[in-house]
Amino acid sequence: MLAKTILMATPSSPSACLYEFDVVVVGAGHAGTEAAAAAARLGAKVALLTGNLDTVGQMSCNPAIGGVAKGQIVREIDALGGLMGQAIDATGIQFRLLNRRKGPAMHSPRAQADKRGYQMAIKETIENYPGIHLVQELVEDLLVEQDGPRARIRGVLTRGDAHYRADTVVLTTGTFLQAIMHTGEAKTEGGRAGEGTTKGISGALTRLGFELRRFKTGTPPRLNAKSIDFAATELQPGDDDPQPFSYLNSGITTPQIPCYITYTNSAVHDLIRANLHRAPMYSGQINSTGPRYCPSIEDKVVRFADKDRHQLFLEPEGRSTTEVYVNGISTSLPRDVQDSIMRLIPGLENSQIMRYGYAVEYDYSPPDQLTPSLETKLVDGLFLAGQINGTTGYEEAGAQGLLAGANAALKAKGSEPLILTRDSSYMGVLVDDLVTRGVDEPYRMFTSRAEYRLLLRQDNADRRLTKLGHELGLVDNARHALLVEKEAAIAAAKEQIETSRMEGGTGTKHLRRTATTWEEMCGHIPELKAYSPTVVDQVVWDIRYEGYVSRQQMQIDRQQRMSQKRIPSTFSYERIRGLRTEAKQKLSRIQPLNIDQAGRISGITPADIALVLAHLENPP
Ligand code: FAD
Repeated sequence: MLAKTILMATPSSPSACLYEFDVVVVGAGHAGTEAAAAAARLGAKVALLTGNLDTVGQMSCNPAIGGVAKGQIVREIDALGGLMGQAIDATGIQFRLLNRRKGPAMHSPRAQADKRGYQMAIKETIENYPGIHLVQELVEDLLVEQDGPRARIRGVLTRGDAHYRADTVVLTTGTFLQAIMHTGEAKTEGGRAGEGTTKGISGALTRLGFELRRFKTGTPPRLNAKSIDFAATELQPGDDDPQPFSYLNSGITTPQIPCYITYTNSAVHDLIRANLHRAPMYSGQINSTGPRYCPSIEDKVVRFADKDRHQLFLEPEGRSTTEVYVNGISTSLPRDVQDSIMRLIPGLENSQIMRYGYAVEYDYSPPDQLTPSLETKLVDGLFLAGQINGTTGYEEAGAQGLLAGANAALKAKGSEPLILTRDSSYMGVLVDDLVTRGVDEPYRMFTSRAEYRLLLRQDNADRRLTKLGHELGLVDNARHALLVEKEAAIAAAKEQIETSRMEGGTGTKHLRRTATTWEEMCGHIPELKAYSPTVVDQVVWDIRYEGYVSRQQMQIDRQQRMSQKRIPSTFSYERIRGLRTEAKQKLSRIQPLNIDQAGRISGITPADIALVLAHLENPP
């Protein structure tokens, strides 16, 4: 029996209520909404409990979805029937495909969102989702039963003594666990401006034996557009041909709103240097690690001391608000310093801050405490997803949520978990990195994290994942039918090209040359004019990248032969003679499922793997 974190057969007071579900999801942010929806698509009866119904799907920081590597993740979430892609297509105010001039593996969709519109789109979707019961509840404890050597989750306890019973629970509490916000010397409890914090869940996890650590993240000030002199800034328009995120949509027709660019300067940097002693990150008030790639302005000034300016993007927060997000100047400096900084930036000299920037420190659970299905190793049936796992970003949270929610529902049904491989998706890379390597700073996705990124393009996420999603029940027939139709069109076009003779060779050989344009191909083969741009892209890239792709495929096949060597969960590393103590400890803690995963644990050497393999093949 475990402290207060116990299974109670009956509610603890006569007034307490008891509700029964297949899956309980705690927190309706980006991870929680995808988790609930994925579990519901798999037929589970889901309770989605969240502290405040008015913040379902809220964007805590940047009002934007996608970006480099993140855009690819949103396309994958969509390919598996998730929510994010359709919500941003419906509410985006500026769409851009980043890295257009680079190869297709680097093309990354990003859209500025109408923040409130996005949130309402997600909320409305969830409210109408068959199988989801969305309830405003603050979860204060976990109901856990000791089942032999292992603890089993049995549900959650909410403020007001309601029991939500379920054999699978997904925690997606974001930045809210024992959270403290900092603006200069001022410290307040809360996971997001205007909101409170959650203490009970941290206490429950600690009592159950989980290690918790702390990270920090920050957000910039928001300005009133009326007080900005846009004439002194640079215009940044959206794309002329905005591309949707969702494979269900063929275009974006809503009008686009421009963003603007301005810069900091040496006067701003001098002011920040003079006030560093008042910055919580430098005064010693905050000790936890923040996102290295998304530093605060005070961090940038210190770390990149030789740079005399930093770019700032002025991004509207929506169509019906004058709030403007100042991307690039995240800060927890005191309010008076934030005001003074604005006076020195071109275009912002007379700007009025509507919300001051701040930093937040919060508990997270190091993700090497999870199995690849995102279930905790310590408590059977308990899944964690999103920022609670030490990640940052809406997209990373959504991806984990979808997988954890699906796996909670699959477990409730007694089915095998959904584990995506590194060669199938960025989602697979994300989860494998988290559970195998853990994190020592807030984790965000980069294209460089994916060794097979030529395969994991934003344009082919449906071709990689939708069939699998359909087989599992995550993807409905209509979405699957679109894929089948698209694959048939791609195959037909490739066949027409292969069987045509052009300049002494096949059409395929001709198209392989980078100088060949599609218009030229259509001149020779008029039937090709009938295909949609999405089909044309697939045909061109399939043909042009065939050589690279088949080389990557050979690598994957080799890797898979290795990875097929499974390691039983009862396997004892302690008994392997000659295995280094550090390797024994790491392997016992992570419990890799197979040799492939074992080999990717940081600090595990090829020599360690050779010993494990030998022991697996010839146990004593
Ligand atoms: P959240 O979106 O935070 O959702 C958690 C949900 O859980 C909330 O709805 C909350 O109400 C609910 N909840 C919490 N505790 C309970 C409880 N006990 N009972 C019921 N419900 C509960 N990301 C970036 O990529 N770049 C950035 O620069 C960046 N800066 C940030 C700055 C700030 C100040 C904050 C707060 C976040 C920032 N983020 C940033 C992170 C981004 O907001 C998160 O990555 C993303 O929202 C995580 O999604 P999530 O679903 O895990 O959590």
